[in-house]
Amino acid sequence: MAGKTVFSSHNEMQRMRNSMTAEKATYEFKAETKKLLDIVINSLYTERDVFVRELISNAADALEKMRHESLTKTEVFDDHLPLEIAIDIDEENKTLTVTDTGIGMSRSELEDNLGTIAHSGSNTYLAELVEAAKKDVNLIGQFGVGFYSAFMAGKTVRVQTRSWDKSEGHEWVSDGTGSFTISEMPGLHRGTKIIVELKDDAGDYAQKWKIESIIKQYSAFVPFPIKIDADTV
Ligand code: ADP
Ligand code: MG
Repeated sequence: MAGKTVFSSHNEMQRMRNSMTAEKATYEFKAETKKLLDIVINSLYTERDVFVRELISNAADALEKMRHESLTKTEVFDDHLPLEIAIDIDEENKTLTVTDTGIGMSRSELEDNLGTIAHSGSNTYLAELVEAAKKDVNLIGQFGVGFYSAFMAGKTVRVQTRSWDKSEGHEWVSDGTGSFTISEMPGLHRGTKIIVELKDDAGDYAQKWKIESIIKQYSAFVPFPIKIDADTV
């Protein structure tokens, strides 16, 4: 057998081939992320509005980082783009899309930032999170689990992103159960686009009045312009 790779299944061989050619590759969420997703999806669904705020807050963070980088970096990809957030809603296809022209993510940043929990993934941490969420769901943002709240309303979440350093763009896709995929996506601008394909009972989030009211309530002090369907809020 020396010198030969033996694959136990066709899938395994496919995965190997994918990772070698930088095509679509599948990754398992870390165990603690799975637990967290389970909590977010199954226990916190009554406070769904929170996910819009979390996505806007991440967009604002990425824009702030971009603003900071441009002070020192001489070469920034798509330097002409204004620093702003655009929210697009598609009532017919039931999607909500949040786009920012912020710092973006490279492939490895995507893998690290959206596959694991940045903070300690210990059981104590999770237990504290569950307790906090029971008392006030608004606390989950402080636990650094903000992004995963997109799965409260989304049956699928797509993240299309390209870093300010001009490395290739990628698309991250997951249904929030056990795994996510990452594939190369050519032609993207700098920044990040999060496309939430809404669950059947979350169609409200594809309505302008709903998004406007959440922004008024939660995101009034975001220091960048927010446009809904190209109108500035
Ligand atoms: P937190 O914002 O507390 O770090 P999140 O779960 O909200 O936790 O996000 C996890 C990480 O994913 C962020 O720290 C950031 O590195 C990355 N991220 C999420 N959204 C974006 C975005 N729109 N642009 C760039 N990076 C992002
Ligand atoms: Mg966040």
